[in-house]
Amino acid sequence: MNAFEHLDITSRFLIGLLIQLVRYGLVAGIAYYLFYVIKKEQWFFMKIQKRFPKKTDIQREVLFSLLTMLIFGLVGVLIILMRKMGWTQIYTDFSAHSVAYFFLSIGIAIFAHDTYFYWTHRMMHHPKLFPYFHKVHHLSHNPSPWAAFAFHPLEAIVQAAYIPVLVVIIPFHPLAMVVFMLWMMVLNVLGHTGYEFIPERFHDTWLGRLQNTPTHHNMHHQLNKGNYGLYFNIWDRLMGTNFRNYEDAYHKNISQKAEETQKVAY
Ligand SMILES: [Zn+2]
Ligand SMILES: [Zn+2]
Repeated sequence: MNAFEHLDITSRFLIGLLIQLVRYGLVAGIAYYLFYVIKKEQWFFMKIQKRFPKKTDIQREVLFSLLTMLIFGLVGVLIILMRKMGWTQIYTDFSAHSVAYFFLSIGIAIFAHDTYFYWTHRMMHHPKLFPYFHKVHHLSHNPSPWAAFAFHPLEAIVQAAYIPVLVVIIPFHPLAMVVFMLWMMVLNVLGHTGYEFIPERFHDTWLGRLQNTPTHHNMHHQLNKGNYGLYFNIWDRLMGTNFRNYEDAYHKNISQKAEETQKVAY
């Protein structure tokens, strides 16, 4: 971060935007290449919906995600300006806080984001807000990894607003931000792969059940409601917004391989 501090705001915006674009391109691109190109047939048994999105759906998903990256880049500029005004608790000197705090701050960011996402997401499903904020994301009924950030610009602003709020409330190191943003990107893309690959031996533990699965978010896209959570299956459990057949659907999706193997075996 210090290395960039002498640069003017436009250069820092462009570098920030480039980082967002490369990160999205790499994470969504690798997932797409794996699930939708090279392993498309081999892993088809894990596909939640047994069809693939149309080319026009993928084009729309990429286009709106690029727009989201632009908004994330602009929010980066906002954070730089806020920091200049002394409004944030961003620290670049590692010795300002302990190593334990560094990791704790990442944990706080992830858990608080899960809560922020759940409630803003539920709010955007209100019929009065849905058409303006969230409809674009739900144009994908059978999402691909590219859909992870396919938001209407208004929804992208709501999503991105979390970061400036976070850095005002808690001390945050830029490297912690890099880790958090990568976590957000990877988990979001995995939730939109359209393939169920979370092993039952993990999911069927108490810790596993608190983690969302691709089936969870895929059901949300298919049915346009319910299963509102992002990383964890905590708020949906507390608020009773999981689909009643979510667990059954997950087990059905993940056991397809076993059925497939049995078909071959007998
Ligand atoms: Zn939704
Ligand atoms: Zn989604």
